[in-house]
Amino acid sequence: MAHTYDPTNIFARILRGEIPNKTVLETEHTLAFHDINPAAPVHVLLIPKGAYATFDHFAAEASADEIVDFHRTAASVCALLGIAPGEGYRAITNAGAHGMQEVPHYHLHILGGKVMGPLIQR
Ligand code: 5GP
Repeated sequence: MAHTYDPTNIFARILRGEIPNKTVLETEHTLAFHDINPAAPVHVLLIPKGAYATFDHFAAEASADEIVDFHRTAASVCALLGIAPGEGYRAITNAGAHGMQEVPHYHLHILGGKVMGPLIQR
């Protein structure tokens, strides 16, 4: 099944400047901003500027430039926020219904500032 993308999602609106955000870092292809409802002392969302719905969509179809920029920006965010090198962090992404993804624009959650606990409930 082909990947689809809904351009009305809230992160697309943030990228279009229709909704404000607390930016941590912005590059040509990537935006990092604070989560509106943080689940940890550090909770940043990293999103590509391109129209990708999920991690696998991004990994399959983004250009090499976009993919490199995204990951280099992730490293810069970790350094900027002092979580790595340091006490560490958790980077997670949800996809689709089973992943319980709320916003259908690929985003990496970067969480830190406390011990995060088990990865998932069993
Ligand atoms: P998901 O469940 O899709 O992995 O995560 C969506 C995340 O986006 C949630 O952690 C939620 O708090 C965050 N979020 C939803 N709407 C907004 C918004 O308008 N601004 C910001 N900064 N974060 C948002």
